[in-house]
Amino acid sequence: MRKRSNIKVMASLIGLVKPLTGYMILAILMGIIGHLCASFITIFGGYALLDVLGFSVPFSSLFAFISLGVFALLRGVLRYAEQACNHFIAFKLLALIRDKIFKSLRKLCPAKLEGRDKGDLISVITSDIELLEVFYAHTISPAVIGIVFSLFMCFFMGSYHWTLGVLAFVSYVTVGLIIPVMASKLSGDMGIKFRTGSGELSGFVLDSLRGLKEIIQFSAGEKRLEEMNKKTEELSADEKQMKKITGINMAVTNTAILVFDIGMLILSAYLNSKGILGFDGVLIPVLAIMSSFGPVVALANLGSTLQNTFAAGNRVLDILQETPVVEEISGNKEVEFHGAKGENIFFSYGDETILSDVSVDIKKGSVVGISGRSGSGKSTLLKLFMRFWETDRGEVSISDRNINNVNTDNLRNMESLVSQETHLFHDSIENNLRIAKADATMEEIENACRKASVHDFIMSLPQGYKTPVGELGDTLSGGERQRLGLARAFLHNAPFMLLDEPTSNLDSLNEAVILKSLKDESRGKTVVLVSHRASTMRIADMVYSVEHGRMS
Ligand code: ATP
Ligand code: MG
Repeated sequence: MRKRSNIKVMASLIGLVKPLTGYMILAILMGIIGHLCASFITIFGGYALLDVLGFSVPFSSLFAFISLGVFALLRGVLRYAEQACNHFIAFKLLALIRDKIFKSLRKLCPAKLEGRDKGDLISVITSDIELLEVFYAHTISPAVIGIVFSLFMCFFMGSYHWTLGVLAFVSYVTVGLIIPVMASKLSGDMGIKFRTGSGELSGFVLDSLRGLKEIIQFSAGEKRLEEMNKKTEELSADEKQMKKITGINMAVTNTAILVFDIGMLILSAYLNSKGILGFDGVLIPVLAIMSSFGPVVALANLGSTLQNTFAAGNRVLDILQETPVVEEISGNKEVEFHGAKGENIFFSYGDETILSDVSVDIKKGSVVGISGRSGSGKSTLLKLFMRFWETDRGEVSISDRNINNVNTDNLRNMESLVSQETHLFHDSIENNLRIAKADATMEEIENACRKASVHDFIMSLPQGYKTPVGELGDTLSGGERQRLGLARAFLHNAPFMLLDEPTSNLDSLNEAVILKSLKDESRGKTVVLVSHRASTMRIADMVYSVEHGRMS
């Protein structure tokens, strides 16, 4: 994770508000007027009191009383409108950010997400984004409101005597800025630590759920539970620490407010005793300062929670600003498939060289086999043909065009990949197949399933194609999952089929049906076949063998 300064996180998060600037300005205006109304309820009460006591005041007590009613009413309405506006902005923005996150994830797929903790990702998408609500609804406009309102109040009190204005300024800065900054210093990296920890915990839980069978098989439950408890306790300890700081922060803030209220009383009373100020100059400024800490206290209370929010923002920005391994391509002329080639390909994941100087020529209409020991880079080679990764050196081309210049959509339409692990969604068999072709007719789906030798099996299920498959295809056998994966490829009906161990889990009867389908298909299609099985390789027109990253 990249570590950004709070200012940087704040600037980037504020940058996202741009489309809603109008609403933000409205919220700020309503907030300022609303807070002024609130404070001036007390202050006008003071004027009314002065009037009753026979002091000269700028207006009559009747006017003051009517104004009190108007202020009270306005205060309620404006407070509601300001909050509604802020929350509208916040939730609209959260939706926008979620949208951006999904776009980024799509771009990062699959290369950058291989090996990433999925539970942690879920925690960014759900709870971290949710936390930004605090920033958008309770931070930006309250900060501006706090500054403008407090400055206004400083001038108001300063109009009695400049020293009162200065004292007010010092109190606002202390309560609204110095105390929260110190509180956030006190919590240090606690926010980041807590967010990362909670991401890790959800990752751990998800991983444990996925590996439930292994955990039971090897009686590792106790140990997993112990580890989960340890992580939870660490998180609780962090949270306790953060709450403690919040508590201290609140206590210090409230004490400071009392001290400044008394300070104002002492200063104005002193000026009064010197004959510089009248009684009204004591009463009004004291009432004004007592009733005007609201907006700065709202900021002060944010102090320690903001750490948490910035940590969440940091993690969200990590995904938004991550550069993808391969960029999506569009805008080039579409190509039709007539053969693919890999020429002198070099490829490594990080420092680990996987392929060096590999060349393959895949002619249209042929079945090309790729063999090699486990870990030699066969699946990697297929990923390069899918452009999931880019080659370090050498060139992959489709229809004699460098794959880096083929539109991504065009490429996906030309290719279907059946990977070693077929992923099934928690949905019906039919919908699982439909992701290969959303508007497929039932007849097309059944045909594809016949080719993949899985139609009879599906029909034998009580709900046929409507049968749910359970999460990750839990309720199906390995061979059934694999055949559904193949059925998807047949349904997608792309001219270039890349099949990674398509028969590894099948008995020879099913294998024979599928090989026959492939052979029939290959009249109009080009097939790359990775397999360890000699029986499967038999249908290949030519076989390349990868050993230690080299062709042999
Ligand atoms: P198998 O026959 O077992 O499927 P394979 O030939 O398909 O093996 P690949 O999946 O291409 O092998 O992997 C080649 C090597 O690259 C392996 O050593 C693997 O550990 C490594 N590898 C694969 N994916 C990644 C990745 N995303 N990051 C780092 N290393 C990887
Ligand atoms: Mg493989």
